[in-house]
Amino acid sequence: MDARIVLLPGDGIGPEIVAQAERVLQVIAERHGHHFQLSSHPIGGCAIDEFGDPLPESTLDACRESAAILLGAVGGPKWDDPHAKTRPEVGLLKIRKELGLFANLRPINPHPALLDSSPLKRHIIEGTDILFVRELTGGIYFGDSGVHENGDGKSAFNTMTYSQEEVKRVVRVAATAALKRRGKLTSVDKANVLEVSRLWRHTAEQIVKSEFPTLEYEVVLVDAMAMHLISRPTDFDVVVTGNMFGDILTDEASMLPGSLGLLPSASVGESGPGLYEPIHGSAPDIAGKGVANPLATILATAMLLRHSLHLEAEAVAIETAVSQVLNDGHRTADIAQSGETAIGTVAMGDLVLSALAS
Ligand code: NAD
Repeated sequence: MDARIVLLPGDGIGPEIVAQAERVLQVIAERHGHHFQLSSHPIGGCAIDEFGDPLPESTLDACRESAAILLGAVGGPKWDDPHAKTRPEVGLLKIRKELGLFANLRPINPHPALLDSSPLKRHIIEGTDILFVRELTGGIYFGDSGVHENGDGKSAFNTMTYSQEEVKRVVRVAATAALKRRGKLTSVDKANVLEVSRLWRHTAEQIVKSEFPTLEYEVVLVDAMAMHLISRPTDFDVVVTGNMFGDILTDEASMLPGSLGLLPSASVGESGPGLYEPIHGSAPDIAGKGVANPLATILATAMLLRHSLHLEAEAVAIETAVSQVLNDGHRTADIAQSGETAIGTVAMGDLVLSALAS
């Protein structure tokens, strides 16, 4: 296969972790006879410094022409001034919107070797394997908003809107994924209170009944889901929900495996390149120290190969290599238990490469 892959290292630890993922991609290409054209482009704070724009046109053009995009992370204290003209996160929101990346996929499957790193008890999380599908370009984060000044002070509002088309397309992504997994789909809403959730529920049910009749399907209210996630996470397979509920629930779910440094995510649209990244941020507190955990980014690379390039065997090879390294007891500082030796970013990358070669 000949594929153009854009790397967006970004800020903080971004360049360090993407460098390890790049090595993995090169080894996969060599071993499986592919040719990946890899090119790096600025995004986020470093792009503001260089171009005054967190998503320069040249970066967006390169992304549009690619088969897939691998992102490190953006942001950091240097660009946190609330009065600044723009912010690194604007680059992220814009790339999702411009590329039509409406579905965010986040697998939550705590690694067996790390179950004791979780804040939850082993017997609760053991066997958890959830795929969250969060709607990413609609809902309250993109609805009308404003601030009113009146005699008694200010009031502010945000509007949550979903069209049936927006619901249908994200439910289709989730249902298709469920068919390839354990065949269960859970839709999360707040239909007991919100009109927009009642439309979501009705539309989701129609799509599942008419197009995916073999799926086991359930609906759960978002407040109940927040409880179920930490009391019985193994009951869920694919979970689909709107932008804000998904934002909150996926962060809650990311605590189950006990480390941010292990979790990848994908943002995909109906066609065109997908965007793959670790779920953590730019970790400015450890940037440049060579201690960041590159595994989430390496696992994001596996998602990229699976979802955008349809290279399932290559994706599994990466996941197996990461699993082997963890089973062998190797840990970066964020996942090391007290008394365990922590290795650095490059050493972890080296170990994954050796496992790939074995
Ligand atoms: P963060 O995820 O960057 O860091 C939280 C904690 O986890 C820190 O202690 C950090 O050292 C640790 N950590 C994160 N990734 C790690 C890794 N791979 N290895 C080892 N330790 C790791 O969250 P934050 O500190 O709240 O945010 C820092 C910056 O990142 C902010 O500017 C924020 O806006 C940005 N951010 C960006 C993204 C993104 O680019 N998608 C996502 C979240 C936050």
